[in-house]
Amino acid sequence: MLNYAKSGESYWVELDISPVTDSTGEIVRFIAVERDITQRRQVEEQLETALKEATRATRAKSEFLANMSHEIRTPMNAIMGFTELLLEKPMHAEHREQLELVHRSAGNLVAIINDILDYSKIEAGKLSLTNEAFDLQEVLESTIDLCGYQAKEKELPLVMNIAPAINTKVMGDKGRVNQILLNLIGNALKFTDSGTVTVNVEAESFLETTRFYISVEDTGIGIPAERLPYIMEKFEQVDNSATRQYEGTGLGLAICKRLIQLYGGELKVESEEGKGSCFSFSITLVNQHSKISVAANQDYPMLDEKLIPEVLRNKKILIAEDSYVNRLLIEKMLNDAPVELVFAEDGEQAVALYCQHVPDMVITDISMPNKDGYEATADIRTLQEQGYPWCPIIALSAHAMTEERERSFASGMNDHLSKPISKDLLIKMIFKWLSLSEENEKKQGAKFKY
Ligand code: ADP
Repeated sequence: MLNYAKSGESYWVELDISPVTDSTGEIVRFIAVERDITQRRQVEEQLETALKEATRATRAKSEFLANMSHEIRTPMNAIMGFTELLLEKPMHAEHREQLELVHRSAGNLVAIINDILDYSKIEAGKLSLTNEAFDLQEVLESTIDLCGYQAKEKELPLVMNIAPAINTKVMGDKGRVNQILLNLIGNALKFTDSGTVTVNVEAESFLETTRFYISVEDTGIGIPAERLPYIMEKFEQVDNSATRQYEGTGLGLAICKRLIQLYGGELKVESEEGKGSCFSFSITLVNQHSKISVAANQDYPMLDEKLIPEVLRNKKILIAEDSYVNRLLIEKMLNDAPVELVFAEDGEQAVALYCQHVPDMVITDISMPNKDGYEATADIRTLQEQGYPWCPIIALSAHAMTEERERSFASGMNDHLSKPISKDLLIKMIFKWLSLSEENEKKQGAKFKY
């Protein structure tokens, strides 16, 4: 509470009020404890300002890097292109050798710039993932083919074990998935001189998504235990000496780690110096022809008002949102809709209320205390795999970025509403998913399982 002293000066107090009851349980008085928290609030405000400033500065730096990298790529393109054209012409052997060096160095520089550009885009939250249909098995095979040359040069067997009968026809950013694989397999070959490099692929299939578990194992130089915790940080390399034996920027793993995070997974490493390393990760990709991918392409223009009560009637919707104001706003927006609303104040409560009410739909905020929206979704999807009926889960997020959308899809959510939400969009979203569920119920005669 904001209070005012007699002098007119304002100060903040925290107030605890507890009832005191007699032996019959009747409240006889209240005890109030007042604490002056003005200083604490000032410190909190200062911290918040400092954090905002630091975030703004990091963002500005990343944006600058992204712009610079882009500007450098344009002239690099001319250097690469014209040296290539010149190399097609007959010339003195010594000149050819020098020009080839220019060409190779320019190629290396472009690779470095691409890495910096990717990393700064990720840092600035500007990396957008595409969502196209592709076959992961084909991507794996073409990556192995591409790395085959390097493996052959070092006489290293490059082996891929892929679990049989798994669905590899998925949706996602094929180029970025390819980039992760190329980086990890490329590193394994770079840091291994004898033995084998093995790629293992396993998968767990759900109705909507497939979770892939991929590992790249090598018998190379390994990573010293004391460096292992830092190896995925940007510009981290085991050998930082001027006489470095291996080329590279130290950005590959940092980029892979973040790309994998965008797909709801985690990059892990196990390694022993002199014995070898194993980099493993899991990513969740949406299945082709699943409800998620079909619905993502559906168009809902104008909807018939009458049809909207029909579909919404007697439906139960669980809303998980930690902000009281936003809960109130959603309640008011859905005032006229014939739906029953259940409110959860954090992710943990959302999962408990889901079990208690078994709603027809869940709309969840992303950042919440105790358990965030992704974790709550994962828990609900697990419960549904164990027998609870499937229901659509919609993300309600303050971030409108593509990666946020991708991450919500990857964690098992079906759609995404960006704040600030409008009443119109909210109702259309509810209508869209409830009618899709209904259609499926009719077709299958029962609620389909996730
Ligand atoms: P780069 O390879 O361009 O230096 P990365 O981020 O891909 O950058 O890797 C960072 C560092 O991690 C490498 O320089 C190397 O020291 C270590 N590293 C990565 N992969 C392996 C591996 N398979 N075996 C041994 N060391 C590795």
